[in-house]
Amino acid sequence: MHTPAPQSSSFAVGDITVKTLSDGHLDIPAGYFSNASESELQLVSPSARFGANCWLIETGTRKILVDAGSGDWLKARFPDTGHVTDAGTALVSASSEITDIILTHMHADHIGGLISNGQSLFPNAKLHLQESEWAFWTNDDLASTVPEDQKPIVELIQSLARPMSPQVELHTGDSDLGEGIHLSFAPGHTPGHQIVHVASGGKQAFLLGDALVSGTLQFANPEVRYALDSAPETAAQTRKTLFEKLAADQIPFAATHLDTTSFGVLQARAGGGYSFEPIA
Ligand SMILES: [Zn+2]
Repeated sequence: MHTPAPQSSSFAVGDITVKTLSDGHLDIPAGYFSNASESELQLVSPSARFGANCWLIETGTRKILVDAGSGDWLKARFPDTGHVTDAGTALVSASSEITDIILTHMHADHIGGLISNGQSLFPNAKLHLQESEWAFWTNDDLASTVPEDQKPIVELIQSLARPMSPQVELHTGDSDLGEGIHLSFAPGHTPGHQIVHVASGGKQAFLLGDALVSGTLQFANPEVRYALDSAPETAAQTRKTLFEKLAADQIPFAATHLDTTSFGVLQARAGGGYSFEPIA
């Protein structure tokens, strides 16, 4: 059976190419958002449509994947996911060429695509994670400390972490991976959430991971909270600091759950908040 290539688009940052690969989409209930007005919540009722973007960064010598999508693990609840690593996609057939995988964090929609049948799909890649992220999710006592309805999430992540562990390379705070690729610590969504800065030939761009989850709500109002943020206040502070910098310096960026594979820039709005302008 032929599986079509995931929807994708390419963005040049100097000599580096960043290809956005869509893993599909997820419909997230409006009830997951808080600290929002009734009229704001109307915009995402009954559910917010989340994209699910991963990125393939090609430098002269390395192929670096940023996040790996959901794999087969979330298809029961979100049927239109897992395209980045669906059997037959070009990425999987070339998976031994991936030298590095930067994981923004360890939620299953970002790491699920790493593992199939208990085996790594990317056997030659280093997996770059924050030490605090790895320590949080691999703590054997974690499942006993979370609400009952979150136990399956923890158990799934821990079952994926075990086969990942031989390839993991841990970082503390900001880190330079060379060739213009930097990791930047951006906590709140999870304890060790990180984003990626790409720089080459005087150009730069950011990959925000889940520092922003809803483009519909959080550009206009970065204070909107999301139920799956581990520290919602920290997440909002991280988002506001990032948005200020992105708007002031007009830095192109992309984010995992934007419902577009385009990069864009932020414009500050007169009444506060921002609007997102895709770069064609
Ligand atoms: Zn996510």
